[in-house]
Amino acid sequence: MITRDEFRAEATAFLEANAKRRVEATQEWGQGSDEVSIFPERTPEEDAAMLAEAKEWRAKVYDAGFGWISGPEAYGGRGLPREYERVWQGLESDYDVPSIGPFGIGLGMVAPTILAHAVEDVKQRYLPAMYRGDTVACQLFSEPVAGSDLAGIQTKAIRDGDEWILNGQKVWTSGAHYSDIGEIITRTTTFEESRHRGLTMFLVDMRAPGVEVRPLRQMTGGASFNEVFFTDVRIPDEMRLGDVDQGWTVALTTLMNERMAIGGGGVGGGMNLANRLRALARHLGAADDPHVRQQIAEVMIRLSVNRYTTLRAMAKMRAGQLPGPELSTLKLGLTNNMQQMSELLTSLLGPRLIADTDEWGTYAWSAFVLSVPGMRVAGGTDEVLRNIVGERVLGLPKG
Ligand SMILES: Cc1cc2nc3c(=O)[nH]c(=O)nc-3n(C[C@H](O)[C@H](O)[C@H](O)COP(=O)(O)OP(=O)(O)OC[C@H]3O[C@@H](n4cnc5c(N)ncnc54)[C@H](O)[C@@H]3O)c2cc1C
Repeated sequence: MITRDEFRAEATAFLEANAKRRVEATQEWGQGSDEVSIFPERTPEEDAAMLAEAKEWRAKVYDAGFGWISGPEAYGGRGLPREYERVWQGLESDYDVPSIGPFGIGLGMVAPTILAHAVEDVKQRYLPAMYRGDTVACQLFSEPVAGSDLAGIQTKAIRDGDEWILNGQKVWTSGAHYSDIGEIITRTTTFEESRHRGLTMFLVDMRAPGVEVRPLRQMTGGASFNEVFFTDVRIPDEMRLGDVDQGWTVALTTLMNERMAIGGGGVGGGMNLANRLRALARHLGAADDPHVRQQIAEVMIRLSVNRYTTLRAMAKMRAGQLPGPELSTLKLGLTNNMQQMSELLTSLLGPRLIADTDEWGTYAWSAFVLSVPGMRVAGGTDEVLRNIVGERVLGLPKG
């Protein structure tokens, strides 16, 4: 097996040949982009251009052997230990490369679920294509009456020979407008004694007749999520993930990976943003204020705690165990940190947070601050995650 040093050298050579080193905003104030948004404000044309650029980069990375470093070779992975993924991520973050955003849900949540629950043909068809960036996936779980209480979903799938017929509506589907496939949870049977039984998971072709995607505009101005309507959509039975009526178990695989993907630093709020926050405090002459220093130190410490919690969860997975409540603490830790950053930014920037004066690196933070409430809801709300930690870690009675 290639050693870590050899791998690091190979990855560095690839990045040097194919990408430019990032101009670090913390080193030179006013240099490079000052965008810090989590839910970008793009027009449909900008979305399409961003996707094309991201796909081109992803294909290059995959073809060079860095697209699915720890994945099984049978499905296009490289079969190396998970630590090598982190080596790659650390190296890649020093270069100015297209955002992984459009692939976040597909690779962070849907692909691990396909690997765990799909039939062989479906794994062969989708996994290499997803990791290469050719196929983009979304998550179709939430409905108007079912979010935290996911077992309350009403979208129905009825069997018709070798196919299923789907009717219903999903909401808040991030990236549905540019996705090729979606992982959808449906109700197939009603059991009086348990709402968690009788659910079945499928992969649905987002371009199949009867699928209609309508954008939802958020308060940051962009429209990164959607409502999706299904009218008599036909799904071949081979696209089922897991057994009929056992979709809850499949959903747990996805949700576990979602908390890992969000809390483990796959989404905004990482060290890069904290460094920008430090640079802002210096720029505003507040870096010597002991109160500001204390708050920035807390943000940095919490990020380190999250990093170690991620490593603990990964060590558990390596040992063949399922990570449990640590994934909930991971996501809670991330959003608490973002909230704290938000409060500090608000007091540091004052009116500059709401009035665009064209000053680099100031008003741009408003997009971050407006994104934080959404982050506290997506992938399990703060309250629901606190319930999980209270019950499963602290042993408190059920809420
Ligand atoms: C940015 C973003 C992206 C998203 N992307 C997707 C996506 O791609 N696919 C998808 O399927 N969904 C997506 N969602 C939806 C998300 O999963 C739901 O919003 C979330 O599960 C909460 O559900 P809800 O909005 O129905 O709120 P509700 O569940 O109705 O909650 C409303 C309030 O009640 C509280 N609450 C609910 N139950 C309890 C309880 N038992 N104890 C204490 N408090 C409780 C909640 O904390 C919240 O404050 C996204 C959401 C956001 C914000």
